Formats: sequence, structure tokens, C-alpha cells
Amino acid sequence: MDKKLIDESKKYLMNTYNRAPIVLRKGRGMKVWDSLGKEYLDFVGGIAVNCLGHCHPKVVIAIQKQAQRLIHVSNLYHIEPQIKLAKLLVEHSFADKVFFCNSGAEAIEGAIKLARKYAKDHVASHKYEIITAYGSFHGRTLAALTATGQEKFHKGFEPLVPGFKYVPFNDIDALKNAITDKTCAILLEPIQGEAGIKIPSEDYLKQVRQLCDENKLLLVLDEVQTGMGRTGKLFAYQYFDIKPDIMALAKGLAGGFPMGAVLATDAVAAAFQPGTHASTFGGNPLACAASVATIETLLEDGFLMDHCSRIGKYFKDSLEKLKRDFPSNIVEVRGLGLLLGMELTKTCGPIVESCTARGILINCTSGNVLRFTPPLTVTEKEIDHLVDTLEDIFGS
Ligand SMILES: *Cc1c(COP(=O)(O)O)cnc(C)c1O
Repeated sequence: MDKKLIDESKKYLMNTYNRAPIVLRKGRGMKVWDSLGKEYLDFVGGIAVNCLGHCHPKVVIAIQKQAQRLIHVSNLYHIEPQIKLAKLLVEHSFADKVFFCNSGAEAIEGAIKLARKYAKDHVASHKYEIITAYGSFHGRTLAALTATGQEKFHKGFEPLVPGFKYVPFNDIDALKNAITDKTCAILLEPIQGEAGIKIPSEDYLKQVRQLCDENKLLLVLDEVQTGMGRTGKLFAYQYFDIKPDIMALAKGLAGGFPMGAVLATDAVAAAFQPGTHASTFGGNPLACAASVATIETLLEDGFLMDHCSRIGKYFKDSLEKLKRDFPSNIVEVRGLGLLLGMELTKTCGPIVESCTARGILINCTSGNVLRFTPPLTVTEKEIDHLVDTLEDIFGS
């Protein structure tokens, strides 16, 4: 343990994370190294951020080249990598227009503002209410926090933003009953990430889409965690065979560089005009160059996303087998592609700690769910090593 650095970390940083007692210094692909030189297999991957692995050469070179050319200019001017990235996103999604920001919470804030503005301009001026799901996670800024349907995140930050309502996830009747004359949009994660990888029934999102159409509501999808190839498709909505009106992206969007985006159809996007929404750093040249390199690599031959589907299934099968061997430790295995969760019978803290000690990084969400969001490049051998290690820990 690097005691001096960790002591200074505790001394100078606000205590907003329960951090593992290691200092990470270097990364390549699936591997990271701490300040003492110890190697780890990274099954956290920045929590669905490092989709191409650490320091992917194409992303590194794109950042280096762009840093030498132009790091920042104001959005009062046209920016080449930003235009290229917006075009790429539009060509590969339902959307016609893109707004760039810097994080998931900001993308959700932008999506909420866009939904309200569109409803007031085009539907009726008294419509502002947004329905979200219990168990959801949409970020830490005040509106995103309010949209988050988990009381534990709200505590201490009241008064929250007015105009939000919650319903159980994957319950179409509850959603139907929650719609009022004031409702303007429904905001959902296609798969709930922080809630412990909750996958809706196959027709749920289709029914939600239909409900939105019947009631002139916007469907806003939070694909901050599920997007960028994570489920084996570029976006999870493609897996569920529907199209949203607005989509929030971040996490893997620029392969590790901070970047968020709000995507929308032309009709909806028109609600934003100069003066209604903006971001100084949003669509910054460096972030856009990193994102273009990330998306181009993801799309190359479709190889990585096919690999993600195939290896994700192998991973899930391996965890299912582990569950059969340890029924008293494991409740359920859930997930799609490389967004996988394994619900345990007890809190997962000790398992996470044992894995870290043995050179494997894994994440715990919702108290008792191990969450696996490795780079999409993860191999069978690396998965075998993780599963063998878990087997060893459960068996001891
Ligand atoms: C991580 C996450 C966010 C928040 O993103 P930040 O970049 O941390 O602000 C929002 N929604 C979902 C689904 C997420 O997983």
C-alpha cells in the first residue's frame, strides 16, 4: 500500500468516494498498474467508460495530434472535429442533431431542458412533468438527481427540482396511470445500471414508445451507461427495436476522455436556439477528436461489437455456472453484452477486496450486486481468470 500518497489523497480530496487502497498510475488494454508496480485486470473499466481499453493507440494518437493543432476555441465558431463527430453520431443513430456537453449528468440536464422547452413550445405551455423510474440513476446535479428515482441519493439535498414523478421500472400499467395533463416526457434507462443491472421484459420499451405516441409525450433514453457498444449494439435502444426522441450519452463516448451528448430528432432539437442552452467546454476539439477515434474504432468492421455480444454471452454463461456451484452465495446473474451483474446473498465489499488483493478490479453496485463493465476487448482467458478467482474466493 502506497501509504504516503493515500494519506495525502485523504487529506486534500473531498471524501466523495470510498476508494480502494491503491493508487493507479498506468494502463494498457485490460490492464492497469498501481504506484508500486502491481498489475491488475480491470473489469471495472472506469464503469463502462474505457470501452476500447486503457490508452488505446488510436485514441492516444488522436488526442496527441489534436493537442498539437488546437485544444480549445469557443463554440461561437465552427469546430472541425465537433462537426465530424456530430455527423458520425447522426449517421449511426435515430437522431438528426447533437448537442455536446462534458458528462452524463450534464447530458441529462440538457435532455430535461430540451424536453420541457419542446413541450412548452409545441404541445402546451402547462406541460413540464417528467416521469422516471424507481431504481434509476441519472446523475448528481440537481435536476438529474431529482430525476434519479432513489431516495438515498436525494437525502440532504432538498428541496429538489419540481416536476418529477416516479413509477416502478418495467411496469407499463404504473406508467399509464402516472400520466397526467402536465406530463411532457418519460425518461428511462433501457437497462438500469446502478440499480444492479435490471433488464426490462422484451416488450416493455415498445409499450412505452406506444404510450408516448398516444399521449404526445417525448421518450427520453438515458444511454449514458448502456451506449457505445456496451450491449453488443452501438445503442441499447437498437436491441429493443424502438427509437427515442431524445438520448443522453456520456461514459464511453470518448473512450475515457470527458464527453457527454444530447441527441434528438430535428423536430425536437429545434426547441433549442441561441440563448436557450450552451456549454463552454461542450464539444471541445480535444474531446471530439478522442470521441471520433473511439467511435471509428468501435465501428470498424463491426468487429468489436460482435466480439462484445459473443464474449458477453461466454462471460454470462461462466457466471451462471458459478451460480450453480455456489447457490448459497449467488442469487442471480443478469445482463446484456458486457454490462453484467451478479447479485449476491450478502454485501459484496469483502469479495471486491479479495479480488483487488488478487489483482482483479471489480465493482459493486446497489450493495450486493457485483457489476462487470470491462473494456469490450476483454478475452475468454481474462474472463476465465476472473471466474476462477471468484470460485476460489467463494470456496474458501
Ligand atoms: C454514470 C451515469 C450518469 C451520470 O454520469 P456522470 O458523467 O457521472 O455525470 C447518468 N446516467 C447513467 C445511466 C449513468 O450510468
